[in-house]
Amino acid sequence: MTLPTPTGAALLHDPRLNKGTAFTAAERDALGLRGLLPPRILTLEEQEERILSNFYGKPSALEQYIYLIGLQDRNETLFYRVVVDHLENLLPIIYTPTVGEACRTFGHIFRRARGLYLTVEDRGRVADILGNWPEPGVRIIVVTDGERILGLGDVGAYGMGIPIGKLSLYTACAGIHPAWCLPITLDMGTDNAEIRNDPLYTGMPRPRIRGEAYLALLDEFVAAVNAVFPGVLLQFEDFATGNALGLLARYRDRFCTFNDDVQGTAAVALAGLYSASRITGVSVAGQHLLFFGAGSAATGIADLVVGAMVAEGVPPAEARSRCWFFDSRGLVVQSRTDLAAHKVPYAHDHRPVTSLVEAIRAVRPTALLGLSTQGGTFTDEVLRTMADLHERPVIFALSNPTSKSECTAEQAYRATGGRAVFASGSPFGPVEFEGRRFVPGQGNNAYIFPGLGLGILASGARRVTDSMFHAAARTLAATVPESALHDGLIYPPLQSIRAVSAIIALAVAEVAWRDGLATVARPADPEAAIRSLVWEPRYPDLLAEGNGR
Ligand code: NAD
Repeated sequence: MTLPTPTGAALLHDPRLNKGTAFTAAERDALGLRGLLPPRILTLEEQEERILSNFYGKPSALEQYIYLIGLQDRNETLFYRVVVDHLENLLPIIYTPTVGEACRTFGHIFRRARGLYLTVEDRGRVADILGNWPEPGVRIIVVTDGERILGLGDVGAYGMGIPIGKLSLYTACAGIHPAWCLPITLDMGTDNAEIRNDPLYTGMPRPRIRGEAYLALLDEFVAAVNAVFPGVLLQFEDFATGNALGLLARYRDRFCTFNDDVQGTAAVALAGLYSASRITGVSVAGQHLLFFGAGSAATGIADLVVGAMVAEGVPPAEARSRCWFFDSRGLVVQSRTDLAAHKVPYAHDHRPVTSLVEAIRAVRPTALLGLSTQGGTFTDEVLRTMADLHERPVIFALSNPTSKSECTAEQAYRATGGRAVFASGSPFGPVEFEGRRFVPGQGNNAYIFPGLGLGILASGARRVTDSMFHAAARTLAATVPESALHDGLIYPPLQSIRAVSAIIALAVAEVAWRDGLATVARPADPEAAIRSLVWEPRYPDLLAEGNGR
């Protein structure tokens, strides 16, 4: 639906249409802007230069974040132009690690609400409130309840930075139109007393609502988004483990929904294992994995890896026996009586072990994956033990933000004599070691979910299935060039992410078409159909027919 183009000051205050100093002379005359802007007309490229010089002049990453969000609030096209053209430098600002810092202090840096807030008081009128959202064509929603933001834990309504950031990545990395994206925070309270007592806290300052009241709001919410925005893709983000897994199981077979911490992480890690196998020569089916941390992310990876092993012909029980877990109480073994349900399928028959080094010696994993939220826990001894066992040990330190990473890239390469195949959750720069230059990969979910979302939209898929995540993981791994692998980089360079997302979108859409999940018929040229959905941050001619809102 095209809404009428606003004019005058209202147009300058509409971030979707505002061009600032780039409005043409004809637009200034026709749209009542004459005199409201400085007379010199700049191009998008000239504006971009100005933005970058201001951006790099900021004294800290948080200040850069605040500056960029301000730009997003004023002029979305320019914001995305800058982000798309400088993704490698800007991704760590608009997403992890800086977004974590922003979430810790969200009320203090608050400028303008972006996204929608719902509280338990809104029960019975959730659909009405969704109807207040100004964009009628929402196609992707990212929702959080703020209870497990990155590795930071419960920050309550301050968690809104996460849905905003994730949706920015949908646009930046896959070209999903910003008007199709809606960030939502379910303010269920917070059990973080420090944040609750913060006088500038933006949420309801009360302990978390749990149990039936929580579920009732969730049920109403999920039904309402599907009623107000039919066919919408609903992404759950940064819920605590129990809710993440429970809500996924509750809704995944009824709605078009997924949990990025569980399934997106799993796909990006599985892709990393596929690429690593191109270096180590050990296929995914031949891996033995030790997960350090047994939360939603770690068990989500294991579940998807088991599916991939089964697809390669390994019997399910055998596949599960190749995945081991080590949590805050030690190795996950059958004799333990304290195990949450999601760990039970991976509790193997073994004596209890409480030291990670000892567990590595016992399990002899080909790959060690950190998802523990415990920074610095992959000590030199841990890393050396892995290197003693295998010529090319696979080490993924996936906890975010950077301070929670189980080890740094440099530690991994040094302690293993440059033999580790390393990836992390938060970015690390290249490492020089013994005359070689290593480029560590970032197992960033942004490699998967934007392309997945684009594929879902292209096919009109009604569900998000494991087969789609398998296809996305295999496709992502196949896009890594040999030259990148040579430097130790097991993910494609970030500069190519838009092209990679389009390839993933095609693979995901093909699964929807193959498995009878699509509501859009497979077009004669699916690649062209996907390309036609991709939004490029360029200023439209507002005087041309159909270019208004
Ligand atoms: P979670 O809270 O569900 O799980 C954390 C797990 O770590 C729990 O099982 C806990 O028992 C375990 N743990 C805590 N202390 C430990 C200790 N001392 N030793 C061993 N285990 C310990 O969190 P989650 O959603 O599973 O996420 C875990 C981490 O993974 C976070 O830091 C998150 O940022 C990161 N993550 C990274 C990516 C990515 O890089 N693509 C994606 C998702 C999550």
